Amino acid sequence: MLPVTEREMRACFVNASLRERNNLNPPADFDATPWDSLDYLGWRDRKYDGVAYVIAELDDGPVGILLRRAEARSRHRSQCSWCEDVRLPNDVVFYAAKRAGKAGRNGDTVGTLVCDGFQCSANVRWRDPAPYDGFDVDAARAQRIVALREHVAAFVERVRQ
Ligand SMILES: [Zn+2]
Repeated sequence: MLPVTEREMRACFVNASLRERNNLNPPADFDATPWDSLDYLGWRDRKYDGVAYVIAELDDGPVGILLRRAEARSRHRSQCSWCEDVRLPNDVVFYAAKRAGKAGRNGDTVGTLVCDGFQCSANVRWRDPAPYDGFDVDAARAQRIVALREHVAAFVERVRQ
């Protein structure tokens, strides 16, 4: 994704109050963010337990979403709805995002299962061993990256509409 400055990042949230935007803590290593290898930026607030943020790059620029961890326990290890990594390399947690505008003020939220440390971009870049001769590993990887971006964009659009 394209780099976003801290100022742009704070300004692009569509479902956070001015107070929430002012209070958010950027990732500890924000200046060293490896934008080239990210399809979205996601992080947990290091001071506010259960609060996390996602910055996605949409056609009209970066869009920020504030997420709150929700209590949804499953007996089975879940798959992330965004990277859909079938290897289940990390824990997946349920987050809810308040919808933008009036819907959000009325308590309407959108939920999703996401990798607990927002590892999706690294997960989709994993190079699988070819399952059979002639399998195009690079094409499969490129396809996973496109799918991840589409899933994140679809979630963000649901939140901001
Ligand atoms: Zn994921």
